[in-house]
Amino acid sequence: MRSITILGATGSIGGSTLDVVARHPDRFRVHALTAHRRIDELARLCVAHRPRFAVVPDAQAGDTLRTHLAAADCPTVVLQGASALDVVAADPEVDVVMAAIVGAAGLAPSIAAARAGKQILLANKEALVSAGPLFVRVCQEGGASVLPIDSEHNAVFQCLTPMPSGQGLPGVPNGVSRILLTASGGPFRQRSMADMADVTPQQACAHPNWSMGRKISVDSATLMNKGLELIEAHFLFGIPAERLDVVVHPQSIIHSLVEYEDGSMLAQLGNPDMRVPIAHALGFPERIASGVERLDLARIGQLHFEAPDPVRFPCLRLAFDALGAGSAAPCVLNAANEIAVDAFLHERLAFTNIATVNDLVLQSLGAEPPPAGIDEVFALDERARTLARRHLLRYAA
Ligand code: NDP
Repeated sequence: MRSITILGATGSIGGSTLDVVARHPDRFRVHALTAHRRIDELARLCVAHRPRFAVVPDAQAGDTLRTHLAAADCPTVVLQGASALDVVAADPEVDVVMAAIVGAAGLAPSIAAARAGKQILLANKEALVSAGPLFVRVCQEGGASVLPIDSEHNAVFQCLTPMPSGQGLPGVPNGVSRILLTASGGPFRQRSMADMADVTPQQACAHPNWSMGRKISVDSATLMNKGLELIEAHFLFGIPAERLDVVVHPQSIIHSLVEYEDGSMLAQLGNPDMRVPIAHALGFPERIASGVERLDLARIGQLHFEAPDPVRFPCLRLAFDALGAGSAAPCVLNAANEIAVDAFLHERLAFTNIATVNDLVLQSLGAEPPPAGIDEVFALDERARTLARRHLLRYAA
């Protein structure tokens, strides 16, 4: 029986994780669930899964949740404040931490889990993007292991031979020549730049294949998600930028590929449902049921591929450049992008100006030295956010 904390339980990944966990009551016990704004949903999850702890951001949310839980006779203990996230991530009783808070807010509890030597199921790519070298170092020092949840990185993990041990970070074995991440191309894959200028948040969040949170859905539409994933792959697998590549595969059936020196390419296939990589990581090294429908290859018939277009999707190019720069650029890009995407979701910035804001902030701060410690990461992240907000004033819709 393994004890699991789910950071970001009310989100899309959190919900899929609880779905898989509930299929295996003999394997997992839910230790803690956390939420930010959706307190009613957290109350529902506590009643259903009976965690020992629930974490909310402040006293007001704490009072609301306690009232809900008392009415349902649920014994879950409510903790409040950002530091409580670190507590439930590092609790000695916890074996596994699902890191599924969106954005840089997920960094501190992921670092706390790493310091405490937990098995981290890493969905929160932004943590690795803003603080890659630091996160890797803390995992090594704390004896933590990291299993990737992002479907692409989980696919790469599954295509590595010999199979990684599951200890530490995965790395890549000798003989791997290239990692090829697949991208669906998002909802605007075939649109011209001009046609993308006035798309709405609703259109951008309507991903053709995946059901995801709003921030990652917009990132998928700009291809920034693929850019962040390139940076994530670099740190997870310890592979240089020139051996990472992207191919557009609109059906999202192949989740990524690994190319070997002998010319072989291994791919992982599955229906686009995050419960597949989540079940893979939860069960590793065993295989456990995910509840996902089987792939019907005869019905799919054909698989399509095309090259990504860095002109219509400049965010992908910005991320490639940020990775190659080997400096503070990934942290700066991630922070600027969070501000720009939030402004777009609130209809204060045009879709095509997300890349403009990101580019301007990168030009100003991208060449700074990489942050050495967590405080430096947060300071740089804040400077990039402030600058992005200033640029928003100029480009505000
Ligand atoms: P959602 O927006 O659906 O969920 C985000 C979760 O984080 C929610 O539980 C939310 O709480 C919580 N949260 C938001 N802000 C804060 C904060 N400041 N402090 C603490 N908690 C916070 O996102 P997803 O589940 O889609 O994505 C989660 C992560 O997983 C992201 O990093 C994303 O890139 C990554 N990922 C997601 C995939 C997917 O298919 N969804 C695929 C691969 C990676 P509340 O809802 O209560 O406000």
